[in-house]
Amino acid sequence: MHYAHTVIPGTQVRLHDIDPDASGGLTKDEGRERFASFNATLDAMQEELYAAGVHALLLILQGMDTAGKDGAIRNVMHNLNPQGCRVESFKVPTEEELAHDFLWRVHKVVPRKGMVGVFNRSHYEDVLVVRVHSLVPEHVWRARYDQINAFERLLTDTGTIIVKCFLHISKDEQEKRLLAREQDVTKAWKLSAGDWRERERWDEYMAAYEEALTRCSTEYAPWYIIPANRKWYRDLAISEVLVETLRPYRDDWQRALDAMSQARLAELQAFRHQQTAGATRP
Ligand code: AMP
Ligand code: MG
Repeated sequence: MHYAHTVIPGTQVRLHDIDPDASGGLTKDEGRERFASFNATLDAMQEELYAAGVHALLLILQGMDTAGKDGAIRNVMHNLNPQGCRVESFKVPTEEELAHDFLWRVHKVVPRKGMVGVFNRSHYEDVLVVRVHSLVPEHVWRARYDQINAFERLLTDTGTIIVKCFLHISKDEQEKRLLAREQDVTKAWKLSAGDWRERERWDEYMAAYEEALTRCSTEYAPWYIIPANRKWYRDLAISEVLVETLRPYRDDWQRALDAMSQARLAELQAFRHQQTAGATRP
C-alpha cells in the first residue's frame, strides 16, 4: 500500500514510529483527486461483488474517540449502493450480550455474501476498552487474541474478505478535535465527558492497540494503520486499501457473472424456442 502502513504478520507494532500526520507528499487537492478515483473504482467493484454473490466484504474500523470512524464511513462509503451495504456500531454490550461469549453479537451481524459490512468498533473492543478498564480478568482477555484469529480465519475460509483499519491520530490532534466540538454549539450533541475520561488512559490504550495489532495481523486478515490526523489522507488511505484488497478477486467475480449470463441466456433461448414451437403447432 502507498498510503496506509501494513502490519506485516509476526512483526511488533510500535505506534510511536508511525507518523499520524503523514500526507504522502501530496497536497490536499491531489489527495482528494486520487481518493475520487479510488472511490469510483470501489463503486464498480461493489456492483460486481454484489451481483456475483461469491464473497462478502467486512471493513473493521477502530480508533480512539474523534479518530474519524464516522467521517471515514461517510466519505469512503459515499459512492456505494446502499442496498449492498450495512454499518454495524458496537456499543457497551447489553446484559444479554454479556451473558454470551464476546463474539456472539459480532458473528450475528457479519455480512452475507454479496454484501459490504462496515464495523464501527468491533470485537477488538474486547481486548481494548475491556483490557484498559479490567472489565474481565486478564487471563480472559489474553485468551481472546487467539480466539479472534480463529474467528477471522473461519470467516475468511468461508468467503469473507476482511479489511481492518486502525485510524491513528496523535494525542494532540485528539485534544484539538475535542475542543473544537465544544466551540461549535451545533455539534455539542457529539460531546461526551467520557471522551475526556478515556483520554487520560491514552498510553494504556496505545499499549492495548499495539498488542492487538501485533497479535491479530494475519496473512488472511491483516491490519492496516491509517495516518488519520489529516482527514483527506485518512479517506485516501482507506479507499486505497479497499481497492487493492478487492482487485485480485475481480477475475473470480467476472467468471461467476459470465457463467450466470450464459445460464440466463440459455434459459431465455429455450423459453423462446418452446414458444415458437407452440405457435407453429397446428
Ligand atoms: P461510541 O463509539 O462513541 O458511540 O461509543 C461506544 C462506546 O462503547 C465506546 O466507549 C466503547 O469503548 C464502548 N464499547 C464498545 N464495545 C465494548 C465492549 N465490548 N465492552 C465495553 N465497552 C464497549
Ligand atoms: Mg465516542
